Amino acid sequence: MKPRILIIYTGGTIGMIENAQTGALEPFDFDHLIDCVPKVKMLDYEISHIQLTEPIDSSNMTPLHWGDIAGAVSENYNRYDGFVVLHGTDTMAYTASALSFMLENLSKPVIITGSQLPIGEVRTDGEENLITALEIAACRTPGGDPQVQEVAILFENYLWRGNRAKKHSSTNFNAFKSYDYPELAHIGLSIDFNQDALLRLPFRRPLKVNRTMDVNVCFVDLFPGLSLDAIEYKLAQPGLKGIVLRTYGAGNAPTDEAFINLMRRRIAEGLVVVNISQCDAGGVMPHRYAAGDALASAGVISGGDMTGEAAITKLMHLFGLGLSSSEVSNLVGASLCGEITV
Ligand code: ASP
Repeated sequence: MKPRILIIYTGGTIGMIENAQTGALEPFDFDHLIDCVPKVKMLDYEISHIQLTEPIDSSNMTPLHWGDIAGAVSENYNRYDGFVVLHGTDTMAYTASALSFMLENLSKPVIITGSQLPIGEVRTDGEENLITALEIAACRTPGGDPQVQEVAILFENYLWRGNRAKKHSSTNFNAFKSYDYPELAHIGLSIDFNQDALLRLPFRRPLKVNRTMDVNVCFVDLFPGLSLDAIEYKLAQPGLKGIVLRTYGAGNAPTDEAFINLMRRRIAEGLVVVNISQCDAGGVMPHRYAAGDALASAGVISGGDMTGEAAITKLMHLFGLGLSSSEVSNLVGASLCGEITV
C-alpha cells in the first residue's frame, strides 16, 4: 500500500509571492506552491491537500485556526497515514505546542514545516523541507507502526518535538531549535531517527480532540525597572485565569515584599502563575536561589524546562478543559505529551 499523506496548507513564507507594487511577501494559494515542486510526484505516495482558510501569514494565527487544523486531522485520521502542516515560521512553535495538547492520544505523525525563502525562489529551502516532511510522515518502523507518533517540527537538518521547539533565527535555514530536548531525527544523507527521544504512549487509545482553548491567559515579562503598577495593571485584566511569568536565570525574580505579596494575594484569589525562565536552556530550578524560593513560597508553580510557547498553550488547554485553578495548578508541572522533563 502506498503511504497516504494529507497536506494541510495554512500559509506562511513557503507559499508566498512578492507583491509587485510593495515588494512585500504575501500569502498565496496551494496550487502555486505545489506547481513549484514537481519532484513531489517522484514520491510513490498518495498525497491529498486541504486549505482551511485563505492562506495567512502565521502572525495572524489564532486558537480558532489551531482548532480547525486539529479538526482536519481528526476528520481524516483513519484515511491517512500521516499529516504535513505547511505553516509560517513566526508562530509555528505555538501551533505545534497547541496541537500537541489538542490531539490527545495521537499515534500518527503530524509534521509541521515551512520555509525561510518562498518556494518559488531559486534558493528556496521550502522544496527540501516539504519533501523531507512528506518522507518523515510516511516513515514506518520495521514492525509497521508510524515512526513518528506525535506533533513535530521539521526544518532543514532537524526534526524537533513540536512542544519543545522555538524559532531561534529569522534568517538561518535551521530556524528552529530545542534547547532542553534532543532532536527526534537528524536529516543529512539519510533521515536518522533518535529512537530514545521519540514519544511512545504506553497505551493505544482513540484520538480525542480538545478544541477549546481558553485565552484568559498572558505573559508577564520581568525586566529590571518594571514597576509594580505595571504588573498590577496587567493582572487586573477582567477574567484573567493564568499567567506565564518570565523570570531571570534559574527562575528568579525580585524578592521585593510588595511584589511577592501581590503574587501571593492573586494566587490565593485563584490566579495560576507559572514560572518560565527567560533563558533558552536549562529551565527553572525554583529552590536554587532565595530569589526563586520566594516566588515558590508565594505559590508560583515551576514550569521546569517548558518553553514559553508550551507553557502558555498548556494553560489555554487546561483552562479550556473547564478545570478549576487548583486542578490546573496540579497539572501544569506534569508531562501531558512530553513538553516538560519530570
Ligand atoms: N511571516 C512569516 C509567517 O510566519 C514568516 C515565515 O513563514 O517564515 O507566516
